[in-house]
Amino acid sequence: MKVLVINCGSSSLKYQVLDMTNEQLLAKGLVERIGMDGSVINHTKMGMDKISTEVPMANHKDAIAQVLNAIVDENHGVVKSMEEIGAVGHRVVHAGEKYAESVLIDSNVIKALEDCIELAPLHNPPNLLGIAACRELMPTTPMVGVFDTAFHQTMPAHNYLYAIPYEYYTKYGIRKYGFHGTSHKYVSERAAAKLNVSINDLKIITCHLGNGASVSAIKYGKVIDTSMGFTPLQGLVMGTRSGDIDPAIVTFIREKENLPHGVVNDILNKKSGVLGISGVSSDFRDLEDAVAEGDERAALALRVFAQKVRFYIGAYIAEMNGVDALIFTAGVGENSAEMRAHICNEMGNLGIKLDLLKNKVRGQERVISTDDSKVKILLVPTNEELMIARDTYKIVNERLRK
Ligand code: AMP
Repeated sequence: MKVLVINCGSSSLKYQVLDMTNEQLLAKGLVERIGMDGSVINHTKMGMDKISTEVPMANHKDAIAQVLNAIVDENHGVVKSMEEIGAVGHRVVHAGEKYAESVLIDSNVIKALEDCIELAPLHNPPNLLGIAACRELMPTTPMVGVFDTAFHQTMPAHNYLYAIPYEYYTKYGIRKYGFHGTSHKYVSERAAAKLNVSINDLKIITCHLGNGASVSAIKYGKVIDTSMGFTPLQGLVMGTRSGDIDPAIVTFIREKENLPHGVVNDILNKKSGVLGISGVSSDFRDLEDAVAEGDERAALALRVFAQKVRFYIGAYIAEMNGVDALIFTAGVGENSAEMRAHICNEMGNLGIKLDLLKNKVRGQERVISTDDSKVKILLVPTNEELMIARDTYKIVNERLRK
């Protein structure tokens, strides 16, 4: 079965087509500037050059129509007709407390995801637009929703509840949800396979360090804690997000700077993190370059970032009473040997010993701890699209067998 994976943003859309008989990636692409001037589809059939086509796309339905055109195209398409696409997998950010696993999309699921718009006002609406467009253009093709929050639903209440009046949880659903769940799940499963140990016998800490960043504690295959919270603002220091701060700072800044409603939220989401501290960039490559040129604040930003990751690793070792595997993934985790070394520095007493030679690697799945390290350290490139395609294939296949 061939599966189309769709990840819809507000003005962009990423897609992949995978052949799930052998999990081979056939084509991938990115549509940009949906609903704006200069909308463009960048499509790559694997093994061929990328082609970019500017074509007006007023909305997500137009964008999906262009994606479908590209994948059936005579020259750079990967299927003869849409009949060959057996299912569509949609990435959806927030499923609240409703779904702990991926599900076949029907009108009840859509209603449940609409109910979560309040919790993810920037993300769920475009995700739902993508689903609606596909349902219109491919009405008979089964669709599966794969949720960023789902994998974290196993968290116990003592880890997801905030110590605020309980009624805010019952009335508004204010609790820790966690995000990047598809990535945390994928890399923890890959690591267990690589170590040849059942995930049910492992205590794992996964560090998804990208522009957005989060750490999860996964005990015997189930998330027991994660660093992102009610929104993706909590936890680690990120590219432009503050991560954990004293909540009193919000009102303090607002009063001192006399800021209108909503501006502090913007500052904490878009002007903070390593960008806010360094004043240089949110991109870790730029920061590493700046450090090489002697920029003190860029160096400080990277130290603050690393420190927060170390803090969570320590906390999660305590929560799980130990750890067997520590995993690095996403843009920074996969590519920055310096950052991995910084994070793992002087953790020998916790059984974490990085092999500095093995660590000299980018984007390859590999064990990077010393042979005598009690905790295995692994670099595992994430692949959220493959995870989405796997869940989609499994769920649709099960339905077909019924
Ligand atoms: P992601 O959100 O997972 O796509 O990750 C994006 C982040 O990865 C950006 O901040 C990039 O700077 C960072 N990144 C990508 N390549 C490298 C690299 N070679 N060294 C350091 N950071 C990198």
